[in-house]
Amino acid sequence: MTPEQFEVKANPALWERLGMNVERFSGMPKMLTEAFRGIYLSQKNRPARMEYFDGMIAELHSGRVEELVTAKDAGRPVVGTFCVYVPEEVIMAVGGICVGLCGGSQGSIPDAEKVLPRNICPMVKSAFGFKLGKICPYFQAVDLVYGETTCDAKKKTWELLDREVPTHVMEIPQMKRARDKALWLEEVKDFTSKMEEVSGRKATAEGIGAAIRVMNAKRLALQRLNDLRHHTPSPISGKDMLLIQQIAFYDDPARFTANVNELCDELDERIAAGVAVAPAATPRVMVSGTPMALPNWKLHHLIESAGAVVVNEESCIGTRYYKDLTDESTATVDEQLSLLTDRYMKIDCSCFTPNDDRIEQVLVEYRASGAQGLIDYCLQFCHTYNIEAVKLREMCEREGIPFLAIETDYSPEDVGQLQTRIEAFIEQIRG
Ligand code: SF4
Ligand code: SF4
Repeated sequence: MTPEQFEVKANPALWERLGMNVERFSGMPKMLTEAFRGIYLSQKNRPARMEYFDGMIAELHSGRVEELVTAKDAGRPVVGTFCVYVPEEVIMAVGGICVGLCGGSQGSIPDAEKVLPRNICPMVKSAFGFKLGKICPYFQAVDLVYGETTCDAKKKTWELLDREVPTHVMEIPQMKRARDKALWLEEVKDFTSKMEEVSGRKATAEGIGAAIRVMNAKRLALQRLNDLRHHTPSPISGKDMLLIQQIAFYDDPARFTANVNELCDELDERIAAGVAVAPAATPRVMVSGTPMALPNWKLHHLIESAGAVVVNEESCIGTRYYKDLTDESTATVDEQLSLLTDRYMKIDCSCFTPNDDRIEQVLVEYRASGAQGLIDYCLQFCHTYNIEAVKLREMCEREGIPFLAIETDYSPEDVGQLQTRIEAFIEQIRG
């Protein structure tokens, strides 16, 4: 597809039906079209199979939303989420659909700042602003939002969000002791009851088992893709990988898995034929830290425009979402919920204390990816990731790993300053 052929499609009738502010939203597809052409379609030598994922962006505000509305009409609940700590399998087991809600855009922040304090993280403000301004079709389509208590900004915002859309909050423990797991298991059970109530369907062992298999297959496909991109030279850009990981949160899981595996087949062929996105000598950078919700492409675009390639994301838009699978060998609902709890408790979000497993995990992924430097990405006011960067820096100093900590938001204001810092970092790696 040439950049000129690409267009994010509009569907004002559908948006009207969802109660959106159609007039305000109508400029969005054009803005996204231009951004996507400039940031994504201008890349050279992309894998042909990226066409599917480009198509998902073209259908972001139309086709995929229509699919959700059709599912709702058929009685299937749609649940919006902001965190990878949601047991998606439970939503799927009652016939529901789980969609990650975007909180990655500057455009909705002024809406939120009319209500929320200014000095909280941009992800929370962006997400809340999308709902207040009625400028996100996904937010308008969801029957229920799943919120969690991973940080103060989120847990207090959910109280206000609940006035706009039903919001179910789960208490995420902040330690990983046996009693914390017991608490979270109770929360998972409550969430299961909530989903049964919303859907009018029982979460059976058969249903949960099938959902676990679907999600394991999806996570395995993403693991396969991430392993392939670790090859030197990398057969796919970090920007394309980021895009796929973002699409993972709103696409149909089975269709997504099939397309990721087809892309992997192509990457196998590219590696065998020596086809890469950049020469083997291109500096390789790994990114860790806070997740980057769609359409937050700022950091990857800066790094790759500066002549490096991003080879791994230790992030919830990255390995934290797919590094762990769930044991499939259980028979009862109670066993399944317990094993799901085990799986989710392995996510090393910075809300946990202590959280040294994450530091170890970053090192393992750094080594596996063949990276030559680590950039830790932190959203402004995200205290847990920001403070955890101290331990990451210490680990990098100990291991002789070049390290750069970046704290930013979604505005373009600091782009020049970031560009200078990133270019200097890449020069340092080049030696
Ligand atoms: S970083 Fe923590 S709070 Fe954010 S999505 Fe990941 S697990 Fe959830
Ligand atoms: S990025 Fe940090 S501050 Fe923002 S919502 Fe996530 S955990 Fe909270």
